[in-house]
Amino acid sequence: MALHRPTMMQRLRAEGTWDVCIVGGGATGLGIALEAAASGLKTALVEAHDFAHGTSSRSTKLVHGGVRYLEQGKISLVAEALRERDRLMHNAGGHVDDFGFLIPVKRRWAQFYYGVGLRLYDLLAGSHRWGRTEWVGRKEIIRRLPHLKEVGVIGAWKYRDGRFNDADLALGIARTAARCGATLINHCQVEGFLKTKGVIRGVALRDTLTDDAFSLNSRVVINACGPYSDTLCRLDDAGHEDRLRPSQGIHLVFDADTLQGGDALLIPKTDDGRVLFAVPWLGKVLVGTTDTAMDTIQAEPRALEEEIEFALDHANRFLGLDLKHEDIRSVFAGLRPLIQGRRDSTAKLSRSHEVEASPSGLVNVRGGKWTTYRKMAEDAVRFLSRSGALSFEPANTTGLQLNMSHGERGLHPTDSSDLKAAIDRAVREDMAVTVEDFLARRYRTLFLDARAAMEAAPEVARLMATALEQDPEWADHQAEQFRKTAAHYLPNNTP
Ligand SMILES: Cc1cc2nc3c(=O)[nH]c(=O)nc-3n(C[C@H](O)[C@H](O)[C@H](O)COP(=O)(O)OP(=O)(O)OC[C@H]3O[C@@H](n4cnc5c(N)ncnc54)[C@H](O)[C@@H]3O)c2cc1C
Repeated sequence: MALHRPTMMQRLRAEGTWDVCIVGGGATGLGIALEAAASGLKTALVEAHDFAHGTSSRSTKLVHGGVRYLEQGKISLVAEALRERDRLMHNAGGHVDDFGFLIPVKRRWAQFYYGVGLRLYDLLAGSHRWGRTEWVGRKEIIRRLPHLKEVGVIGAWKYRDGRFNDADLALGIARTAARCGATLINHCQVEGFLKTKGVIRGVALRDTLTDDAFSLNSRVVINACGPYSDTLCRLDDAGHEDRLRPSQGIHLVFDADTLQGGDALLIPKTDDGRVLFAVPWLGKVLVGTTDTAMDTIQAEPRALEEEIEFALDHANRFLGLDLKHEDIRSVFAGLRPLIQGRRDSTAKLSRSHEVEASPSGLVNVRGGKWTTYRKMAEDAVRFLSRSGALSFEPANTTGLQLNMSHGERGLHPTDSSDLKAAIDRAVREDMAVTVEDFLARRYRTLFLDARAAMEAAPEVARLMATALEQDPEWADHQAEQFRKTAAHYLPNNTP
């Protein structure tokens, strides 16, 4: 079943009562939709913006166990993530790369310390291990990465982890969920709940493209809103107390020649305990990330000037790079849905997940990370069965193959030999209905080069208007809307 919006909308509105309605179309919600549909449940998913519009398109692009969580003693979390890393590698048909990560080391004690940690990492992966961690001596590491000479390294540890295209994987999961019978729709926001005697029996929705309000009935409603989870809970219970403490992370994007050697780089701990990555990705290099606690959350989080300075300064100091403001091609920010601790700093808050139901029956799935989306979904769907909310036999999805895209997606769309064909396909099969859907998540142009995305927008808008049977005013409006969004992906916000 293709992700064709008019067809999906028709199905969404025609069904009497759904077994499960999932709110939120990021990694968490899409994973649950797949798990529920594979288990034979009548499944609907509604997403306020676009699939993976939230945190799930703004990650560091790592499918990983999380080396740094070992230091916090989170052994079972890391072991679980390493298992899921391997499953994803097998299930996503070549869309997760087994990639080399280098940890540059300046002192002997650090060589020993990280060496022990990485051996443990290998050990925890067990039969799911992707090669052995190795030590690369000073001479060799400086030959490969001359800029490390500036920071006085004595060598580097090289270990293996995964790299992926997050928005592309999200669409792959959405396609697979549709194949298993789920109905999924983007640009459709939950604005309230239908209740009988205080128990949730459905949701009130608004199609944000047409402003059409309607409702649907469902035996169970699942909150998979990621960092917006508490906001949805407040629609259910105005007195709800926040369970999450969102933390913002940003990435800066540079041209590929910024980093030589082909491997990614990791600084496990900067001065203030944050982690810093430099990851080659889709012909560019991502540098990030920060960890800034946020009091308010917005749909389009913006990088703070101090976060940009932090990432630039630390990449230059710790990696010996010479990055400048004017070299930044794009800046993107995302919000981690961290579960609230007591007095922990956000860098230390849990990356594990939880599933629980509110007194009204709303099932909340919180926390987690991209790598463990399948495990989160499994836990959520088993919770429905165990709690007696629905009677069914949960499926085993550990080896379920995902419907991934074919071909190169991600670069400048005008590099595509046939932009019109790419747009037609994105509209017909992948539910792209705005210029941003296409330029940010079907193609990753906005994330890779914000200025190039702005330049491409009028032509993309014109072709999308034809594919969607819209008029030239629609195209102009879309191009203008996109220009405003893309401005936030430019450093200093200067279009
Ligand atoms: C900077 C950063 C880097 C990261 N890097 C990695 C990494 O490298 N590897 C890794 O494994 N994990 C990583 N993570 C974690 C991972 O990205 C997140 O845990 C995951 O994407 C969260 O997915 P989610 O579906 O819970 O939330 P989201 O992706 O935010 O999805 C929630 C969705 O709910 C929708 N929604 C909200 N309200 C409503 C409503 N009322 N009606 C309908 N829809 C609604 C939103 O539009 C949104 O699309 C990173 C996180 C951050 C912030």
